[in-house]
Amino acid sequence: MTRDVELLAPDTPLQQVVRRMRSRRHSCALFGSDGVPAGIITERDLVAAMERMPENPGIASEPAAEHMSTRPCTVRNDQSLFDALVIARAQDIRHLPVVDDRQKLVGLVTHTDLAQAHFHVIEQQQQLVERAILERTEQLLRANAELQSLSLEDSLMHIGNRRAMDVDMEHTHAHARRHRRPYCVVLLDIDFFKAYNDHYGHLQGDKALERTASLVKNTIRKSDRIYRYGGEELLLLLPDTGNAGEGERITQRILKKLHNAALEHCKSPYGVITMSAGIAHYDPESDPAVEDWHDIVRAADERLYLAKKTGRNRAA
Ligand code: GH3
Ligand code: MG
Ligand code: MG
Repeated sequence: MTRDVELLAPDTPLQQVVRRMRSRRHSCALFGSDGVPAGIITERDLVAAMERMPENPGIASEPAAEHMSTRPCTVRNDQSLFDALVIARAQDIRHLPVVDDRQKLVGLVTHTDLAQAHFHVIEQQQQLVERAILERTEQLLRANAELQSLSLEDSLMHIGNRRAMDVDMEHTHAHARRHRRPYCVVLLDIDFFKAYNDHYGHLQGDKALERTASLVKNTIRKSDRIYRYGGEELLLLLPDTGNAGEGERITQRILKKLHNAALEHCKSPYGVITMSAGIAHYDPESDPAVEDWHDIVRAADERLYLAKKTGRNRAA
């Protein structure tokens, strides 16, 4: 993390912001007042502003606030490297302002910082594995297990793992409450999967899990996130989705696509692999009191149970 950060006034002219970023070799500029960040301009925003220059030559003297594309997504200074990695990846962002418990800016984590830290971890991990093979000491194996826990992905499904999901849910829920943004959670569970394993074998079962996860991943929008919740269950997190119809539409699209993919499952009454889904929304306007994201997942789980009970291969 770099501590060499400052907050500019939102009315600073764009040209001045560019000069400042250039002279300090910064890839973004942060705006706000009283030490609390309220906006960010990145190189991407400047490129977009430049594109509009021919039709708006006065753009350089406009207040920077008019060109901020995102409300900065922040991390607290007591959060871990793992948390920062998950949040940056989930939201596809390259600059994470770090704030203290009063939301005041204390530093900035850039994509480069995160990549370097992660590479360092992977390098250390490789060295440890090599040494562990040679020496096979308990201590080394334990250290390696600890480093492995920094992994964000499930190695079978190639989607986010449960630990990453916990961090993303915590962060998304806190953000939703603070900024009054809704979100939607969908729990997806493969139908009759025990029977699939029993009939086709565990290895074939693994392949089916991988194909199902890949199909879901390729169906969702860029801002949506998918995690392995457990066994043959996936959790879909749809940020800024308050409209009940929208979550339902995305879910139906997934279920239909899986059904149409026709992955043989002769032990299911549907003849192919299908999933059931439980959908739950968090709406800060109607449920401001929900403090814990686990309550939203629990509601989705109850809906999933209903979908199972009423015939499977459906959403509830
Ligand atoms: P339902 O339609 O009610 O969901 O029935 P189900 O058989 O899918 O549910 P159940 O919970 O009884 O069984 C889940 C099965 O998923 C059992 C377990 O062996 C299998 N499973 C969980 N994780 C994995 C995995 O990583 N690989 C394989 N091959 N199977 C897995
Ligand atoms: Mg299950
Ligand atoms: Mg199941």
